[in-house]
Amino acid sequence: MALFVDLDHAATTSVRPEVLAAMEPFAVVDYGNPSGSHRLARSAVRALDEARERTANLLGCRPSELVFTSGGTESDNQAVSGGMPPRAGTSVCSASEHHAVLDVVEALGGSVIPVDRMARIDLDALAIELDRLGQTNSPASLVSVMLANNEVGTMSDLRAVAEVLEQHAPHAALHTDAVQAAAWLDLSEAAAPAQLVSVSGHKLGGPKGIGALVVRTGTKVRPLLLGGGQERGQRSGTVNVAGAVGLAAALECTVNELPATSSRVRALRDRLANGLLDQVDGLIETVVPDRDRSALLPGTCHVCIRDVDSETLLLLLEGSGICASAGSSCASGASSGSHVVTALGIDRQFAGGALRLTLGHTSTDADVDTVLAALPAAVDRIRQRRAS
Ligand code: PLP
Repeated sequence: MALFVDLDHAATTSVRPEVLAAMEPFAVVDYGNPSGSHRLARSAVRALDEARERTANLLGCRPSELVFTSGGTESDNQAVSGGMPPRAGTSVCSASEHHAVLDVVEALGGSVIPVDRMARIDLDALAIELDRLGQTNSPASLVSVMLANNEVGTMSDLRAVAEVLEQHAPHAALHTDAVQAAAWLDLSEAAAPAQLVSVSGHKLGGPKGIGALVVRTGTKVRPLLLGGGQERGQRSGTVNVAGAVGLAAALECTVNELPATSSRVRALRDRLANGLLDQVDGLIETVVPDRDRSALLPGTCHVCIRDVDSETLLLLLEGSGICASAGSSCASGASSGSHVVTALGIDRQFAGGALRLTLGHTSTDADVDTVLAALPAAVDRIRQRRAS
């Protein structure tokens, strides 16, 4: 039996055994640097070519359109900035993006568009801003909208976003951060409207330190890292061959298991969310109207609890063996709170008690039972302490 209950799968996941097995030869035996010219190097080149082909196939792009990176943050930074030097024009994103996108847009003086009550970009506000920028000498050159939100779990309608671009900024590229969506959606379809797509290995049973950026033919992106000119000059640095093999294997396992895992985990998540609503007074599902979770990733349950502070709740849950978070893993425990919850305009009495519980392919009924037993008691304890 596990020593803890992991309800923080959106932060990271354990490496799948089949992924580890696929990677091992390229870390231990065939560990060559693919930039060399001898036997070891040639073997690494073959592994890398194969990993690129398999990954590209699963992401719905050509092998020549795929750049291996160190993870989601690097992919987002390269896509949004356009590389070094940054692309001309203005970058635009939604207010609920991960910091790996939001901070780049803000650092470049770009535009941040408000979101609706579901944390999805406000399409009317986007159209107005694209029109406004079109009248300036710095029109929009990139719009970044995540495929699924890492905190509250809402999936975006990327086709609707692409239509707004076509009408109001036809020369701007559409980037999607698909880091969270990759564990739950077939990206060859779901990410198809975007010219630039970011993914990360460790969110779907692959290793940390590997990711990919899809750059569709005709979309111009400069390298962010300069040096040896690896990845056809798009990303310098010795390529993480074992990591690339691991990313391909993790994506393959994820896509193969998708229908079965999604419906199993969705049922667990629904039991968890319904149980919490039934048992905890003053608890709301942050972006879910009337228990309709059709817009959410299958594994996400995000709630806000009145008169409770997240940090104390997380400590009490950890005391019961449950690992959870208040928001994204980088914001977890931070007293400044989540920019996503702030963007949603949630009442302060509730927002302080934000809690993200995220399930994954290894989640079980017993995990849900543990939370349903521990969480209502933890909330009671906090409220009693406050009242005394
Ligand atoms: N984008 C999203 C939506 C994420 O959830 C994360 C990780 O939390 C990242 C980007 C960053 O990915 P990485 O940890 O691979 O740098």
